[in-house]
Amino acid sequence: MRSCLGCHKRFPKKQLMKFVLRNGVIKHDSKGTEQGRSAYCCNNNKCLDDFVRQEKKLSRAFRVREDQISTELKDWE
Ligand SMILES: [Zn+2]
Repeated sequence: MRSCLGCHKRFPKKQLMKFVLRNGVIKHDSKGTEQGRSAYCCNNNKCLDDFVRQEKKLSRAFRVREDQISTELKDWE
């Protein structure tokens, strides 16, 4: 079980979208094959919206400083 960074509800990992941080950019790991720290969000537009604005939580999830994360998302599907 993992929690969604948007709504904080817990879901089985399979039901969540996985994101990884690559070169300061948050990337959707659609295949779930990326290594390293990850953050999860449920498949809900409002959560995804919140997700990208949760810089504090993202920085904690990825163990980096807030200014090391670009909130501009790329490679989304
Ligand atoms: Zn959610």
